[in-house]
Amino acid sequence: MNKLNFSLKIISFLIFSFVFFQTAEAQSRADRVLINEATRITKDDFSISTRTPKGARIFAVRQPNSKMLNAIDKGLADLFAIAGKNNYQKRLNYSDYTIFIAKADRTQDSSKNYSPDIAIGAAQYAGSVYDQGGFVYAAGMVLAYNPCAFVFAEHTKNFERVSDVVRFEGEHLVLYHNDRKLYNKTADHSKGGGHPILK
Ligand SMILES: [Zn+2]
Repeated sequence: MNKLNFSLKIISFLIFSFVFFQTAEAQSRADRVLINEATRITKDDFSISTRTPKGARIFAVRQPNSKMLNAIDKGLADLFAIAGKNNYQKRLNYSDYTIFIAKADRTQDSSKNYSPDIAIGAAQYAGSVYDQGGFVYAAGMVLAYNPCAFVFAEHTKNFERVSDVVRFEGEHLVLYHNDRKLYNKTADHSKGGGHPILK
């Protein structure tokens, strides 16, 4: 009897380890796909991996300071609050989000306001007012829906802008998972419309 119990324990331990290692392996594969996509779009190298105090995952070009990380948590908190108000329930955990902090490709907009932005291929914005000659400057950009991921630029001040960008990119992801119709209507800003979407 004891012998049988002992073997069962070993078997369940092996199954547990197998499942555990499978999951860890699958996660790092998904991470690699995501990091490759972020690198392709921004031409940046995301060598830093960390988490915000509330548990959102961060990949960054440089170690982000606590002001940056807290501003990200604040943006997600604002996002989850407005999503809850709209009775959305999916993807409202900090750990649901993977956020890339890229190098700023400019730090001032055309009106000389502090505006760290990333340059990305023009795609559907080609020929629009946003087109800078094959690329556009964006405050942020959604990278993936599963897991929820987006990228925006490093800030050294005006951290409330970080919270806004996080909340605004997050709106697209929350809508994708909770209200596909409104997501489709609001995802492409070259057809007009901006943020905030959720009120
Ligand atoms: Zn947007």
